[in-house]
Amino acid sequence: MAKSTFTITVLPGDGIGHEITPICLDLLNKVSAKIGGFTLNFDSFAAGAAHYKETGISLPEEAMQHAFDSDATLLACMGLPSIRYPDGREIAPQLELREKMDLFAGVRPVKTLPGLPLPLTSDNAKNLDFVLIRESTEGLFASREKFKIVGEGENAEAFDTQKISHKGCKRVFDFAFGLARQRKSQGYQGKVTCVDKANVLGSFYFMRQVFDETAKSHTDVTADHIYVDAAALQLVAKPWQFDVLVTENMFGDILSDLGAGLMGGMGMAPSADIGVEKAVFQPCHGTAPDIIGQGKANPTAMFLSAAMMLNWLGHQHDNDKLVTAAKILNEAVENAYATGALLPYELGGTSGTDVISDAVFAALDKL
Ligand code: ATP
Repeated sequence: MAKSTFTITVLPGDGIGHEITPICLDLLNKVSAKIGGFTLNFDSFAAGAAHYKETGISLPEEAMQHAFDSDATLLACMGLPSIRYPDGREIAPQLELREKMDLFAGVRPVKTLPGLPLPLTSDNAKNLDFVLIRESTEGLFASREKFKIVGEGENAEAFDTQKISHKGCKRVFDFAFGLARQRKSQGYQGKVTCVDKANVLGSFYFMRQVFDETAKSHTDVTADHIYVDAAALQLVAKPWQFDVLVTENMFGDILSDLGAGLMGGMGMAPSADIGVEKAVFQPCHGTAPDIIGQGKANPTAMFLSAAMMLNWLGHQHDNDKLVTAAKILNEAVENAYATGALLPYELGGTSGTDVISDAVFAALDKL
């Protein structure tokens, strides 16, 4: 019999994380009661910048262990610009979690919702539906704790070293081809585009070679390449040409914000960080210090991340009810926006956390 009870590690983190997490858990409870056939048990832990300030620890061992042992982790956002490690870096234990759990595939769907005044106005751009995969364990971010400064004063030179490994590339490329294959069966193009800078840096030339080699075992899916600068342009000029994009960690960090922009803002963009058997689901946005406590936080990205979690759990454990619950949750969000009555603050409107949440809960009731 398919597994039906799941333990979820919940990390509300900092800032607006505390405003959107409780509502998201209520929504998940409501979806699970509506669909039935599975139970989610939530265990919350304090972690992040405020916790670091209080205790000197950003991610307690107990929370880390629980994340390892549970079925999935739902994380809101962490970090506050005013609280930093002694070397000046912001507190970002979510990066540590990704590395320790070996969550190599950062999945960043770019799917526009109806009823919003989006930055690109053509009909094609209003119906975007592609996925950016960000390699999340190496690349330029791999050296963030090992950076070095050589020399002093005016002679000082700072170095961050990029790591691109064959193993790291192969597994994320296999993941991207697998996703494109799955999408092709649902009517999408079935294409993976590798985003690199192989014309300038040897590490990216190496990455491209591994991509081409990996593509040979996925001949049912189209493989192509684009340089990252051209990708930035094409993501604004003709983003609908893409199906699945795969790229290095820092390029992915930058381009996924561009993707969020195409969707209307950071509050609209969900994400998942997926490893072999573990996964963390988290909205793309940060803690939004400028709007903390004002009721302006958009919970949409976290709702959509929670739907990604249900879908992933469903496929991992062969539980159709979870897959249905994910579909219903996505539909509720889509229907809430399709009325045209919602305009989040980040898009220039006045729909805050409560208004958006109420609309999604009401849309769910109608399904
Ligand atoms: P980080 O630097 O860690 O990414 P951040 O919150 O400073 O964190 P972004 O997530 O890029 O940066 O967000 C930039 C701005 O977008 C925020 O300052 C806020 O004004 C807005 N924003 C981000 N997320 C949301 C949200 N969920 N709801 C409303 N506004 C948001």
